[in-house]
Amino acid sequence: MKISWKVIALWAVPLLLIGFFLWQGTAMPTNPNAGGQNTASTRMTYGRFLEYLDSGRVTTVDLYEGGRTAIVEAVDPDLDNRPQRLRVDLPGNTPELIGRLQKEDVNFDVHPARNDGAVWGLLSNLIFPILLITGLFFLFRRSGNVPGGPGQAMNFGKSKAKFQMEAKTGVMFDDVAGIEEAKEELQEVVTFLKKPERFTAVGAKIPKGVLLVGPPGTGKTLLAKAIAGEAGTPFFSISGSEFVEMFVGVGASRVRDLFKKAKENAPCIIFIDEIDAVGRQRGAGIGGGNDEREQTLNQLLTEMDGFEGNTGIIIIAATNRPDVLDSALLRPGRFDRQVTVDAPDIKGRVEILEVHARNKKLADDISLKVIARRTPGFSGADLANLLNEAAILTARRRKEATTMLEIDDAVDRVIAGMEGTPLTDGKSKRLIAYHEVGHAMIGTLVRDHDPVQKVTLIPRGQAQGLTWFAPSEDQSLVSRSQLKARIMGALGGRAAEAIIFGEDEVTTGAGNDLQQVTGMARQMVTRFGMSEKIGLISLEGQSQEVFIGGGLMNRAEYSNEIATKVDQEVKAIAQACYEETLKIIRDNRVVIDRLVDILIEKETMDGEEFRQIVAEYTEVPEKERFVPAV
Ligand code: ADP
Ligand code: MG
Ligand code: ZN
Repeated sequence: MKISWKVIALWAVPLLLIGFFLWQGTAMPTNPNAGGQNTASTRMTYGRFLEYLDSGRVTTVDLYEGGRTAIVEAVDPDLDNRPQRLRVDLPGNTPELIGRLQKEDVNFDVHPARNDGAVWGLLSNLIFPILLITGLFFLFRRSGNVPGGPGQAMNFGKSKAKFQMEAKTGVMFDDVAGIEEAKEELQEVVTFLKKPERFTAVGAKIPKGVLLVGPPGTGKTLLAKAIAGEAGTPFFSISGSEFVEMFVGVGASRVRDLFKKAKENAPCIIFIDEIDAVGRQRGAGIGGGNDEREQTLNQLLTEMDGFEGNTGIIIIAATNRPDVLDSALLRPGRFDRQVTVDAPDIKGRVEILEVHARNKKLADDISLKVIARRTPGFSGADLANLLNEAAILTARRRKEATTMLEIDDAVDRVIAGMEGTPLTDGKSKRLIAYHEVGHAMIGTLVRDHDPVQKVTLIPRGQAQGLTWFAPSEDQSLVSRSQLKARIMGALGGRAAEAIIFGEDEVTTGAGNDLQQVTGMARQMVTRFGMSEKIGLISLEGQSQEVFIGGGLMNRAEYSNEIATKVDQEVKAIAQACYEETLKIIRDNRVVIDRLVDILIEKETMDGEEFRQIVAEYTEVPEKERFVPAV
């Protein structure tokens, strides 16, 4: 333990204080009980004291405590006029008493008011602050011992350092797959860090900031780490939400600390995750902006401007909302490079699966291509999670290697949550069976619907039963008839409930379905120009969120009149689809009853079996599917 002068000073102050009061306490007879000669153990009543005074026996009076107590010296003729010291409680500082004392020619003195218990009283008053001082002192010492060393005790922003530093990330570009374009663009950043002179020699300015834009789980953090890993530089990371603190100035001081540390360790990467948490457009908040956030953002901008391009620090920020970022952040010299990191396509998914299959034991029957085909829309993180879940299931089933069975179960689990225990046979199980068969029936009989993959009565997550459809790879362009088919498919559950059990018996089970129906129908009307009454007008932007801070309140951009029309159109679309759905269910009642019986018995039915049974009763349309080559 190193003891610096600060330590001594911190100890010396309270010690000196104690010493001072101890000394004061003994040196000054300020208290009736303090000091030898002032001690008066015998008490005398006030009345007796007045008597003594009248009879001239009192020689000296010392008044204490603002005249509330007195030590009286009196002579007692009964005791050979020997002086006696007595203690008297007085009713207060009465002027009459002073007058009488003067008249009787008594020797009297008044001592300043000081409370009882002298030394110990004083000490007890001091104990609290002393404890506090030493307590704080130890606290600071400890925080000072953490990385930065001593001397930063009072620096709150620093002692709560929330950024992480990794000297070596250990992640390489090989560990990132399926996002080749992004990797290629960022390859350059590695060269900036490794060989800056190559660029500065020809007068090129090395960019300071790169913004990675993409949905969660696509590998933005991983990419940033890979850059640091490839360049062999340290990796500093902080999340935007960690900047935004309750205490004003803390966020800004964190930014300062972060850049200070980074400069000491250049060349290096600073990674700011969720930059939208601090980097939102300023001055857009309703009811006054968030001062703290703005201060933090300003500090970030200042720091970015404050270092030259060739200090060897490159800031990589990640967000999935580039639209809400403050324009100042995107100006040249700041995050002027944007790299999009998209969800992987089927080829990308195979590559990502290959990366994550490296350290797993997979059975020979497993084809990563088949898994990739089953998982459109999965992000890199989802795929990593999928293989991990499958490995966990493999271990739980005490198998040597993961088989396709575990993969299938893991896909279901990743998409729909944990499996629950199946319902016992009864009315509600029957109702759920009809509901699901309703969905599956529409999915099978409507040409433009995705084909049924399986129907199950085993609850998962929030759902009591589930109908799985095999999604097509390309979801980016969806036709009007596909949208209509999806709306009908979603209404299939409710339609079956209504026809089989009657309108009075329909359940809350369709709540989620109806939400989807409304969402799809509304978008057809307001975004895709798919309703005649509204026409080819886009009433809502891409973003569905009503983000107040950035002024994206586009829901109210049109008049009430149009809003009413939109509502009418949405309702009309849903109603028309429902009529058609009801008809299909009614027309196929016989096969539906049979399918429900089978489903209740088996609990799970795959799409192929389902289609075969339906085909015995009615014509099943052939579905054209675009199967991408891998
Ligand atoms: P983001 O930062 O974009 O939300 P992450 O980089 O944190 O996503 O990804 C989380 C995890 O998912 C990674 O640690 C990695 O295991 C896996 N992952 C995501 N994308 C990829 C990818 N393109 N290649 C390989 N693994 C990936
Ligand atoms: Mg991340
Ligand atoms: Zn449903």
